Amino acid sequence: SNYELIADVYDNGVDPEVTIAHWVFPEDRVAAETTFALVPEMMAGLEEVFGPYPYRDERFGHAEVSGVGAMEHNTCVSFGGSLIVGNRGSDAVVVHELGHQWWGDLVTCEDWNDIWLNEGFATYSEKLWAEHRYGARVLPAAMKGEEYHGSQSVYVQPVPDLDSLFSAKYYRAIYGKGSWVLHMIRRAVGEDDFFDILERHKTESLARGGIANTEQFRATCEAESGLDLERFFRQWVYLSGSPSFRVLPFVSASGESLWVRFAQDPTEDTCFAVDIDLAIAREGGGDTTLTLSMDTWADTFLVAPGGRIDSLRFDPDNWLLDDGFAGPVDEVLAIDQDTVLTMGGDGQILLAWEVLDSFVTGVRLYSAPSDEGPWSRVQGDLVLPKTGSFAMERPNAPIYFSLRAVSDSLPGFESVRSNVVESALPKTTETLRDSTATNPYVLGGDPYGILFNLSEAGPVSIRIYDITGRLVREVFDGDLPARFSHRLEWDGRNGEGRTVGPGVYFVRFESSALNTTRKVVVLR
Ligand SMILES: [Zn+2]
Repeated sequence: SNYELIADVYDNGVDPEVTIAHWVFPEDRVAAETTFALVPEMMAGLEEVFGPYPYRDERFGHAEVSGVGAMEHNTCVSFGGSLIVGNRGSDAVVVHELGHQWWGDLVTCEDWNDIWLNEGFATYSEKLWAEHRYGARVLPAAMKGEEYHGSQSVYVQPVPDLDSLFSAKYYRAIYGKGSWVLHMIRRAVGEDDFFDILERHKTESLARGGIANTEQFRATCEAESGLDLERFFRQWVYLSGSPSFRVLPFVSASGESLWVRFAQDPTEDTCFAVDIDLAIAREGGGDTTLTLSMDTWADTFLVAPGGRIDSLRFDPDNWLLDDGFAGPVDEVLAIDQDTVLTMGGDGQILLAWEVLDSFVTGVRLYSAPSDEGPWSRVQGDLVLPKTGSFAMERPNAPIYFSLRAVSDSLPGFESVRSNVVESALPKTTETLRDSTATNPYVLGGDPYGILFNLSEAGPVSIRIYDITGRLVREVFDGDLPARFSHRLEWDGRNGEGRTVGPGVYFVRFESSALNTTRKVVVLR
């Protein structure tokens, strides 16, 4: 074809220097000079972490092809013309394919199941290059872009047809999460051991003819680090998903002693063993970072940083592939804002809340004349149920509410504050008739509370169904008067009086004005 050659050289003072050659279409030559300008520096960066470029006595370069893709042929990467854009926009692709010269070409995966050993490594090459070029501070954001929490595992089993294997469904797991596996191994074993592992992986694979599978890579990691990584590989490589956490800090009256409760989402399939970095900012300055090791569904950690605690940050440097840390203002400890708006009757305020974590044994309700405080306990020292509701006459002035959780396991401690809700004007009956957004409102817990407004008297039917549509329980079937804030309960039992198993259930609510379904999750 009608190629023009862009000749370059990589010389780091070690013989032989590496010949670099890019063959491009004449019309793309100017742009290509920019696109490939950093290749020598990329090679220097990757040699630092992966050892010598494997084909030093041959060469490295690219051959332009039409289209969008790139392919890591050893010593001469085919490179789609649409990637030659004349700016730094294709750097990640260039360094990805360069990384493949070590991982994919010199060492290649045994079978398609293990394709992450090629693609996860090449993707992590991009991050190591970014770190080399722009500094460690760019690493957290670079890894953020590769996060994947979905249902495909990094290890591919079964292997689909090859068109599917490189489709979007698998891509995020093999490439993105595959790079995360390396990132988290690096964190688990430490900097020195991590790069020694890569060197050893290369040597041991070459002794097998340049072939590696996932179990061989695990054995290499374990031999070099001395760690047992069976659970690590099971949860991150062979199984799918990632952990999400509900976090509830409990503070002593002095504000200096802190317990932090972490609970993984109990509806997930996998209980993850993780190290969580916790950055603590103290009032008056001074940050401390602790690492908390957690290998159960939920755990509570004593943190004593010395001095009043100003704020907490979780995994600040992004070393953990987590699906989020939900704080007390999220679903962990919250007054349902919609309940306040729609469930309160004339002249009445109704607050409702539910706390799912078994560690919490109750809540205290606080009120204040403004959302800034000052906060005072509504019922003195009285501890209210962790799942409950509270009604009071609506005062003339605005009033604000929040909750703090307590635990029998931590006497003298209260959690940080929940969200703050403001008393609001009640909706009119006419609005309520059409308001299906929160009417009825189902409170989780034991028993389940079913709160609802009836704008007119009439028949009401409430039935519980399981996920297959089978009737589990008839909770109510009869006439009720028009009223705000009806409350009925379901004790979590079926028609025969037995406690139902964990899972998703549906509360079917029918009245003359409403015909709707609410989902409830019964936890294990
Ligand atoms: Zn690749």
